[in-house]
Amino acid sequence: MSKIIRYCKLNEEHYGPNAFDVSRPNIFGNPYTHIKNRETKAQVKVKTRDEAIALYDPYFDNMLKDDSEVGERFREEWDRMYEAYKTYDEIYLGCFCNLSETCHSDVIKKKLIQRSMKEKLSKIKAERKKKD
Ligand SMILES: [Zn+2]
Repeated sequence: MSKIIRYCKLNEEHYGPNAFDVSRPNIFGNPYTHIKNRETKAQVKVKTRDEAIALYDPYFDNMLKDDSEVGERFREEWDRMYEAYKTYDEIYLGCFCNLSETCHSDVIKKKLIQRSMKEKLSKIKAERKKKD
């Protein structure tokens, strides 16, 4: 299980199979934004950063169930990220947010950890069933 490292694309860049650019307009970009004073690729404007990030959580879950082509691509990338999380010592999530600010990549990080917890639990359950 790897360490999930968030980085700010304004200051650094990471490449390779363990680096994921989650900024807009990439597949994991947040369609919600609170940005008002400049051009943005976000589709939906909301009042605050916290709101934009809170909305990303159910959006993410919906994308995993979405049967459109975008949903399919989202799941493929999600599986690729999850495999990287299990394979490498560290994985990088890049966004334009400052590291001092909260970011939707915090939600992605949470989702990775939750997915691995679920996987561990189902393995334990499967082991128990075998013993019964
Ligand atoms: Zn961000």
